[in-house]
Amino acid sequence: MEKPLRLKLAVQKSGRLTELSTDLLVRCGLKFSRAKDQLLGFGENMPLDLLFVRDDDIPDLVEEDVCDLGLVGLNVVEEKKLELAARGYSARFEILRSLDFGRCRLSIAVPDEVIWNGPSSLEGRRIATTYPYALAKWLTDRRIRAEIVTLSGAVEIAPRLGRADAICDLVSTGSTLEANRLREVEVLLESHAVLVRTPVELPKEKSDWVARLLMRIDGVQQVRESKYIMLHAPRAALPAIRSLLPGSESPTIMPLEGSADKVAIHAVCRENVFWETLEALKTAGASSLLVLPVEKMLA
Ligand code: ATP
Ligand code: ZN
Repeated sequence: MEKPLRLKLAVQKSGRLTELSTDLLVRCGLKFSRAKDQLLGFGENMPLDLLFVRDDDIPDLVEEDVCDLGLVGLNVVEEKKLELAARGYSARFEILRSLDFGRCRLSIAVPDEVIWNGPSSLEGRRIATTYPYALAKWLTDRRIRAEIVTLSGAVEIAPRLGRADAICDLVSTGSTLEANRLREVEVLLESHAVLVRTPVELPKEKSDWVARLLMRIDGVQQVRESKYIMLHAPRAALPAIRSLLPGSESPTIMPLEGSADKVAIHAVCRENVFWETLEALKTAGASSLLVLPVEKMLA
């Protein structure tokens, strides 16, 4: 019997994206088993295996078709594209989806006491980073000459150690910067996790599964914000109530047994339903309000 073709998807081995990535796949219905410290996770109910690697290796693994797919930060993908471009190649992997996790910014930060007059304040300065290609492009685009100090980590302590005058690093809450008495002054890139795909054409068996996975990912991402709302309302209040339902297209309206002028309204709201919305609905005449989480959605 021929071995079934299995998709290989690269995810970060241990870091900020690991749990978020596997969580997305589990929500897409994947059950996988992974022995402790194993590089490979075996998909038990889909022909899809996970390869756990350093996030920096993911673009190459996908570019070189060792893996069909990868989940990685846009920051890593963009840096890899620039690195390949500097060596005269153009990246061929394809970004299939932007994902709603792993949000951060690649930013320039300077010590608190530095007076900032815009990017030109970096002229002739030393900037420490693990993103030399993104930084070089940003500086070149602004015709600023500065020295790039490429480090492999712990960038945020470089100014204190006297190794740099500024840094270019990932920021999410800003607490690391604050703890190191640095302040964010410029944003180079707004980042989030992305799903990347090999440039190589896949056999139908595999590409069908990629399409299914994409549909499920879209469903999962839509559902995260969506709510199902049910309420009773006088017919006369319908226009007002419909205008208050956040991001819902066509609500279902049903008569209520034993009540001539009241109806029940059910609607999927594509945005979160906040207390303020419920209060406004009540003021508009709604009663018996119920908000439920949506578990799965397929357009
Ligand atoms: P690895 O050992 O896999 O190379 P790493 O140290 O490069 O790990 P992490 O710090 O785990 O990577 O970050 C992984 C990704 O998480 C980043 O590339 C980025 O896309 C995202 N991320 C989100 N918020 C932050 C943040 N505040 N700092 C760093 N990365 C962040
Ligand atoms: Zn890394």
